[in-house]
Amino acid sequence: MRIVGALLIALAIAAAPFSWRYAQTLIPATEPDAPEPAPASAEAAPAALEAEVAFLSDQLARLSQRVDALDSRTALNLASVARPLEPRAEIPEATDSLKDAFAQVVLIADRRSANDGLSHATPSFLRELIGLPRPDLTDNCQSATNPRLRDLLSTEDVGPIRATLVRPALVSIRQVFANVQVFEPELYDRIKTAGSLCVRRIRGAQSAASAHAYGLAVDINIDGVLDSLADGKTQLGLILLADFFKKEGWIWGAGFGREDSMHFEVSRDKLEQWRRLGEI
Ligand SMILES: [Zn+2]
Repeated sequence: MRIVGALLIALAIAAAPFSWRYAQTLIPATEPDAPEPAPASAEAAPAALEAEVAFLSDQLARLSQRVDALDSRTALNLASVARPLEPRAEIPEATDSLKDAFAQVVLIADRRSANDGLSHATPSFLRELIGLPRPDLTDNCQSATNPRLRDLLSTEDVGPIRATLVRPALVSIRQVFANVQVFEPELYDRIKTAGSLCVRRIRGAQSAASAHAYGLAVDINIDGVLDSLADGKTQLGLILLADFFKKEGWIWGAGFGREDSMHFEVSRDKLEQWRRLGEI
């Protein structure tokens, strides 16, 4: 607007002689003693004024064009300054980098408090709840022989993966993934599993069975990349997933003494709830 003002002032200065002379032609009667102009010059005056009007109109048009041009350039400058803040310009790049980041391995912040508010189902609690999956557990995956457990187990699609779990756990994990699909659809598409049911003893223990032996745990990763155990690191996508699992009452292996961030298992709280409801 300062430019427009300056141009208008410049235009007024340029037009001043014309204005003055035009004013004189309008008010000759105010100077009664002035001699009458010669007829020739009186006839010449309108022609000269007409030329001057044409000249000034031309100048005005040019100035007007320049103002328009300056206005557009100013608008362009403002647009280029504003562009980085426009979401449409930034979203594709941000989305791409976030997509890449899902599989990136990062340090887990404050992992020991990951499961605050939930309690771990110990092998003795599970044994008391269901009994041993089979009496002769080894270090290898075998089939379950416990009839109660066999009745509860099922293999189903639960969204992005197929899992073998006890039925209430299938319902629960399906809810976990349904929420992920709504809030993190790109992450959902990249969820893979490294296994769920595996009836074996906990390594180093004589007869204690892990949550995997009861169909109460699943190992998850992004893009099929296996996580290294006990390094305190995990894929960024698993950190995001952990919140969805926790909301449904699942414990994250990242909080274990020996970090196992692919591992998610049903919490004791959830199992007690299912027991109260007669679902397990
Ligand atoms: Zn596991």
